[in-house]
Parts: sequence; structure tokens; C-alpha cells
Amino acid sequence: MCPVCRARFRGARECSRCGADLTVVMTLAASAWHMRRAARQAVQAGDVARARQLAARAQEICSMPAGRRLAALGEWLGFAQANRLADQHENQNGGDHRYQAGGDEHRLE
Ligand SMILES: [Zn+2]
Repeated sequence: MCPVCRARFRGARECSRCGADLTVVMTLAASAWHMRRAARQAVQAGDVARARQLAARAQEICSMPAGRRLAALGEWLGFAQANRLADQHENQNGGDHRYQAGGDEHRLE
């Protein structure tokens, strides 16, 4: 997003609306992306404190829905204090809703 006129960020070095230099925005977005990736790796490695720190810093730099989810996961992990649960959460996200889908449909027949 353009910091000057809040136009949607389209990956260009110059804002299409106001012509502001977005090189800094691109750099920040890239570093935030790298931090989120490092945060995910920290979660997988069981380093919850580091994951929360990285997610929070990425969020400060560049606010995005994916960052909010990751930050929320980090907070949740902080309360849970169980690295094992991180794997379960990842599986739930990746393993879609197959378990819930089947049952109700059969009952409706
Ligand atoms: Zn602009």
C-alpha cells in the first residue's frame, strides 16, 4: 500500500496514483516476508519465543492478514506452552475439513 495516498501496492517502484517512490515499501515488504518465513521455521523448530518475536516484528513492518494469523498462532502457542500442539495446528490447516464434511451429508439422505 502506498504510504502517501494509500493506493493499492502493485509491485511497482512508483505509485501508480501519486507517483511516490515505493522502493522503501518494497524493501520493507520483502524483509517482512523473510521474517515471517523465519517465524514459521522457528515454530517448526519449537522455538516459540523467537517465532513470536519475528512475527511481531514482521507485523510492525508490514501488516498483512497472513502476519496476523501467524502472530495469533504465536500468542496461542505462548499460552499453550506446548510445541507439540504447533504440529497439530499445522496439520489442521493443511488437512482441510474432510473430517467434518462427510457425516452431515449422510444424515441428510
Ligand atoms: Zn501513492
